[in-house]
Amino acid sequence: RAKRAGRNTFAFFNHSMNTEARRTLTLEHDLRHSLEQGELHLHYQPQVDLSSGQIIGMEALLRWQHPIDGNIPPDEFIPIAEETGMILPIGRWVLEQACQTAARIRRLYTRPFRMAVNLSARQFEDSELILQVDQILADTGLPGNYLELEITESLLVNNFGHINDILRQLRRRGITIAVDDFGTGYSSLNYLKKLEVNQLKIDRSFVQDIPGDRDDVAITSTIILMARQLGLDVIAEGIETEQQQQFLLQQGCRTGQGFYFSRPVPFSQLQQRWSHGT
Ligand code: C2E
Ligand code: MG
Ligand code: MG
Ligand code: MG
Repeated sequence: RAKRAGRNTFAFFNHSMNTEARRTLTLEHDLRHSLEQGELHLHYQPQVDLSSGQIIGMEALLRWQHPIDGNIPPDEFIPIAEETGMILPIGRWVLEQACQTAARIRRLYTRPFRMAVNLSARQFEDSELILQVDQILADTGLPGNYLELEITESLLVNNFGHINDILRQLRRRGITIAVDDFGTGYSSLNYLKKLEVNQLKIDRSFVQDIPGDRDDVAITSTIILMARQLGLDVIAEGIETEQQQQFLLQQGCRTGQGFYFSRPVPFSQLQQRWSHGT
């Protein structure tokens, strides 16, 4: 019996592997055409002042509407885009779209805000990055201080000198640099101190179970304290409840993002909320 179960398990495992591999191949192929076919678009998630609820910025999040499979989550297709190099044209398109949107909002509303865009390591290692950013800011007329770029800790462990040089160039343009998913990677505190970054984004896995989980309470409050000591801004992601919002505020975290305030939405919906002043 054990043997048969084992064999069945093996057969099933094999089968699912094939299916998964096949899906990856299909997605890889389809992703190449997604841009020109107009299947990609951006959603925007507000970032708010935790005490007033006012929108102070937004994060652009990529969406892929596949013609057959429907909505494919970024956690599934971004890694494929990174492996194939497709992230370079796609990432450029994201930056253009997000800056266009930001420039539009800036013309409509007087309040200051920042548009946050995720940047993958491949884009960051691309020697054209600075040139690209300059072109896009010039074309859209968006001042650099309206743009925020989110990078991950994994980027920061290699080639520190080079990375920091690029960060410095971006900072000179007024661009804010945020470390996304902070706490999940391996960046040493020593690096962090020397890095040209402005903001830490507390990963949502730590926010999820506060204030109930003692470990997560310890982690979030330590990150907030450390950010303050290092002179960095801090934002919490994945806030889903009022309790989480209150707790973070008490710990000294003044900005946040999460379903409690809004899910990522198309620009038209963001505009509605924005014009209602919250
Ligand atoms: P991220 O940059 O950490 O983005 C935050 C993710 O958390 C988003 O998932 C967002 O929808 C989700 N989220 C926000 N608030 C909540 C909440 O309260 N509860 C829960 N459960 N989730 C929340 P999304 O849009 O699926 O994106 C996943 C990841 O894909 C992003 O994580 C980012 O790493 C990557 N990604 C998305 N767009 C881009 C892009 O344009 N370029 C690159 N390189 N990566 C992107
Ligand atoms: Mg992000
Ligand atoms: Mg994140
Ligand atoms: Mg993430």
